[in-house]
Amino acid sequence: MVCFCFLVDQTRQIRRSKPAAGFCSRCGGGASVADMKTATRFCFVPFYWRSWRAIICTFCGAIIRSYR
Ligand SMILES: [Zn+2]
Repeated sequence: MVCFCFLVDQTRQIRRSKPAAGFCSRCGGGASVADMKTATRFCFVPFYWRSWRAIICTFCGAIIRSYR
């Protein structure tokens, strides 16, 4: 019997953020520019991560715009 391991998960971390102009289209909250770090883990061991910058909503956490 084959047992699949669904222990792959992704964690999104905001390293730092500062207020930016603009509003969230979903809730109308304030926007902020954030340096994000996404880590993909397998069995709780990170094997891939990348840093990126995005404009996020400070209220609901929605990503308004992302930069590569
Ligand atoms: Zn929002």
